[in-house]
Amino acid sequence: MFIKKRDKSFLVPTLVAGLLLAGAVYIFTSSSFEQDEPLISLDSTSDYWNLKKPIKLSLSDDSGIKSYKVTMLSQGESSVLYHEQLLEPKKSIELSVEPTRAISSMKIDEIKLVVEANDASKWNLFAGNSVTKEYSFKIDKNKPHLNILSNSYKITKGGSALVVFQAKDENLDKLYIDTNFGKKFLAQPFMKDGYYIALIAWPLREESFSATLYADDKAGNVSKVHIPLFLQNHKFRVSNITLSDAFLKGKIAELAEEFEETQGVSDDIERFKIINETIRAKNEKLIYDITSKVPQDLVEDFKINKMYPLKNAAAVASHGDHRIFSYGGKVVSDSYHMGLDLASNAMAEIKPQNGGEVVYTGYNGLYGNMPIIYHGLGLYTLYGHCSSINVNTGDMVPPLFPIANSGKSGFAMGDHLHFGIVVQGVEVRPDEWMDANWIKLNITDIITNAKAVVK
Ligand SMILES: [Zn+2]
Repeated sequence: MFIKKRDKSFLVPTLVAGLLLAGAVYIFTSSSFEQDEPLISLDSTSDYWNLKKPIKLSLSDDSGIKSYKVTMLSQGESSVLYHEQLLEPKKSIELSVEPTRAISSMKIDEIKLVVEANDASKWNLFAGNSVTKEYSFKIDKNKPHLNILSNSYKITKGGSALVVFQAKDENLDKLYIDTNFGKKFLAQPFMKDGYYIALIAWPLREESFSATLYADDKAGNVSKVHIPLFLQNHKFRVSNITLSDAFLKGKIAELAEEFEETQGVSDDIERFKIINETIRAKNEKLIYDITSKVPQDLVEDFKINKMYPLKNAAAVASHGDHRIFSYGGKVVSDSYHMGLDLASNAMAEIKPQNGGEVVYTGYNGLYGNMPIIYHGLGLYTLYGHCSSINVNTGDMVPPLFPIANSGKSGFAMGDHLHFGIVVQGVEVRPDEWMDANWIKLNITDIITNAKAVVK
């Protein structure tokens, strides 16, 4: 019987080729043959260092760090801060880099950091992937010089104050005024290089007030100075208002038609709450966003006239009034009246005593048609419920320009002007800015005193 012998000789090379291919696939896909060099990262993105705050250095690698070395170089001096070979490779290593005693006692301008790392990959004929990175830091051990030249003697709850100060540093990074309530006020350059001016404000709903100047440099040096202000309390009115069905089914129902948030809401109280709380918060946020801007142009001088934008008007509601609304003997909602209501004849001309830039001319919900004017130094004025606005955003208006006419647009029962004054987003007491003596003592005199020092 003739049996044809099957040729199996091709099997061997195929097997070898297959094994090689599998090996290659394994090498290229296995983490033990990975080809990525170790990652090095620093917690500092600055090119400056004060030599005090340690720099956090992280090394990481998928196959693990096998060895690393950190060297500090300065003026020909070289010190090895870390040099380690790991028997058990680590996926990540955190190091704290501090200068050696010798280097920190030297007077140096610059330091170089050399970081070398090698991973546990079997790539490169089992040598692994290695990386070397160099970082340069300019050394600055000096704190910014910070000094108050002049400031308002006191601040009243809900009111404003002014501060002029000097801040000097070769590498000044940030300058701001921090407060006990989280708001940071910004300063503007004043007259000459190194001098700054800022209006600050105590929001009426904050029980206490404290403000501190901060200067941070690029190397992480920080200086701070507390602004010494005598604190004066101020009592704001509390009004208990009973909601009537006529009001809820009249003005409120009418207002509810124009807002998206009240569409389909038929319950009178629910509708009132949405308008008084949700819509009000949204309208106040728009005011905050516009008025918290502080352009960084140089302030040569700041002159402000006492404000009274509506001639022969009577105040019909006060600023800071806490309104508590009840219905059927139960408190249902509350709000704060952030402005002063002035009423004269209907559609009376509104003529601000101070000129400025028109920064908003839109319709703002409860505030109705509402122009906002910027007067410089983070100080804004707003005019609510207007029947018409006669200026456009971007216009520069001179003092006493008839910017708008009073009306009852928005949440207003009768024709009146809702007059608001805002310092860096904080609604402040208009009565201060309507008082020539307050302006002299708290603004004009402070600037005059500061000018005498700067000159
Ligand atoms: Zn009002």
